[in-house]
Amino acid sequence: MALRGRLALITGAGSDRGLGYAIARALASAGAEVVLSDIDVEGARRNAAAIGASARAVALDVTSEASVAEAVSEVGRVDILVNNAGITQRRAIWELSVDEFDRVLAINLRGGFLCLGAVVKGMMERRWGRVIWISSVAGKQGGGIIGTAHYAASKAGVIGLCQAAARELGPFGITSNAIAPGFILTGIATRAVDAQAEREMDEKISAQAPMRRSGLPDDVGAAAAFLASEEAGYITGEVMDVNGGIHFD
Ligand code: NAP
Repeated sequence: MALRGRLALITGAGSDRGLGYAIARALASAGAEVVLSDIDVEGARRNAAAIGASARAVALDVTSEASVAEAVSEVGRVDILVNNAGITQRRAIWELSVDEFDRVLAINLRGGFLCLGAVVKGMMERRWGRVIWISSVAGKQGGGIIGTAHYAASKAGVIGLCQAAARELGPFGITSNAIAPGFILTGIATRAVDAQAEREMDEKISAQAPMRRSGLPDDVGAAAAFLASEEAGYITGEVMDVNGGIHFD
């Protein structure tokens, strides 16, 4: 799984409990140079410093084409792109405003499209690339855990984008795969709802999931490191469930 000589850009990697940081740790352990990006660049800097010399940070707001372009030109070559930035809210479909819908889609779906656009030409020229999209079990089953309609729609859209990219970019030596996490203890639920809701969900998943626990960020990090590896070069268009068995298809 040696990723030595590869440079990875991870979006939404500014939270110290988040998946982006765990993915950055896993890729760095496999030998990659990692760039942690986030709208909150201070968080990304702290996480990069904790990883060490193979990591650095850059400010990147996935909703802004200018911010994405500036960050990518600062980073230089990107071999591995991890579209991880995402938000959610709990909201009944009849209470969901157009602004809330647009905001979630702009970060979770359009953001990945913008980031891909900024790095794909370089990958095509070098005829090597790995694009990893963080979808969700919510994108396969219409929400149901922490996300609701707009979140589910964005994460289903991520699967469509991922698979279209797999078809079109395969001839250039670029794979495109998604990870669909189940419930992972990162604090996203706390930000979207409250700490009590996260505890209740943890108890529910721990009782019901075949693996009898909620997911940990490192579970997703390990999956990303595999999909980024040389050995995963014949896997593309895959949506990898990392959910302890709460959903499979
Ligand atoms: P998280 O800790 O909240 O991480 C998301 C990160 O994205 C945060 O650091 C957030 O920064 C950042 N972000 C928000 N808006 C951004 C923007 N416009 N540009 C760049 N970065 C932005 O949550 P997480 O659980 O690690 O989520 C990571 C990904 O996994 C998301 O796509 C999420 O939908 C997906 N996922 C999570 C779970 C789960 O159970 N945790 C399950 C399935 C899928 P701020 O905190 O400053 O807003």
